[in-house]
Amino acid sequence: MYHREYSLKVPSEISNIVLDGRVFYVKRDDLIDPHLAGNKYRKLYTLLQTQPNQLSRIISYGGTQSNAMLAIAAMCKRKNWEFIYYTKPLSDTIKNENCGNFYHAKKLGMQHFEIEHQYYKDFISSLRFNLDEKTFIVDQGGAVKEAEEGLRVLADEIREADFNVKSLATPSGTGTTALFLALMLPEYKIYTTPCVGDEAYLREQISSLHKIPDNLIILKPQKKYHFAKPYKEFLKVWQKLFQSGIEFDLIYAPSLWISLLQQTDEEIIYIHSGGVSGNESMLRRYEKKGFLSSV
Ligand SMILES: *Cc1c(COP(=O)(O)O)cnc(C)c1O
Repeated sequence: MYHREYSLKVPSEISNIVLDGRVFYVKRDDLIDPHLAGNKYRKLYTLLQTQPNQLSRIISYGGTQSNAMLAIAAMCKRKNWEFIYYTKPLSDTIKNENCGNFYHAKKLGMQHFEIEHQYYKDFISSLRFNLDEKTFIVDQGGAVKEAEEGLRVLADEIREADFNVKSLATPSGTGTTALFLALMLPEYKIYTTPCVGDEAYLREQISSLHKIPDNLIILKPQKKYHFAKPYKEFLKVWQKLFQSGIEFDLIYAPSLWISLLQQTDEEIIYIHSGGVSGNESMLRRYEKKGFLSSV
C-alpha cells in the first residue's frame, strides 16, 4: 500500500464564496497539499500510485515558474526518487530567488541543469533514447497520457458530491484538464478560457487530443493577455477573491473569473487548479511594476 498518502487531503472539499453578490462553489484542489496540488496533482495521480521501488528517477523540462515542476519535485521527495529538471539558461536573478516555485522545488531536492538555447530542442528530443526502465519522463506541463486516470478520479468526486449545480469552470493552459472533464462529465457544462495564447491556439491544442465536445465552452477573454504577465485587472479580481476567502493563482485564475463574472449568470462549481505556490514571486513582480500600491 502507498502508506504516505494519508497526508494528502483527498477527496478535496467544496467550499463556497460570494462574489459580486453571486454564490460560487469551489472544489478545493488547492488544499490537497502545499506543493502537490491542483490539476498537477490530478495529472500525476498515476505516478503517485506507483510503488516507490518501481522507479528511481523522473526527468522533466520546461519553465522555472512551472507548477508541474514543483508538483513533480514534491512527488519525488515523497517517493524518494531522483528528480532531474532541464531548462534553458537562467538569469542570476531567478537562480538566486528565495521564493517561488523554482526555489521550493530545489529545496525539495530537484537537480537542475541548464541547456544552451541552440542545443535545447535536440537535447529534449534525445531524452527518450537509452532510457533505463526505472527512469520516467514527464513532458512539459505534466504528462497527457497519464492525466486521464487522475482526472477521472476528479470527475467521480464531482459527480459523487451530487450538487444541484451542473456547470463547472477551470482555466486552461493546454486544455487537457477542461477537455477530460468535459468528456468524463457529459451531463455538465464546462467553462474554460485560454491563459496561454489565444482562443485559436487553445482550440488547436484541444483538437490535437480529441474533437472538442459540445459541453466544453471556451469563453473569450475581453482582451489579449500574454501568459504570466502582470495585469491590473488580474490583481483586482484576485484581491476580491482573496477577500472573499480563497486564494487563487495569479496567472490562470484571474482571466477565467473575469469572464465568468461577465459572461455567465448561473451557479457554477469552479475547480481550483492550484498554483498558489507561485503567487509570492508573482506578487513581487506586481510590486515592482507599482501595481500593488495603486489598489
Ligand atoms: C497547469 C495549470 C493549468 C492548466 O492546465 P491544463 O490542463 O494544461 O489546461 C491551470 N491552472 C493552473 C494553476 C495550472 O498550474
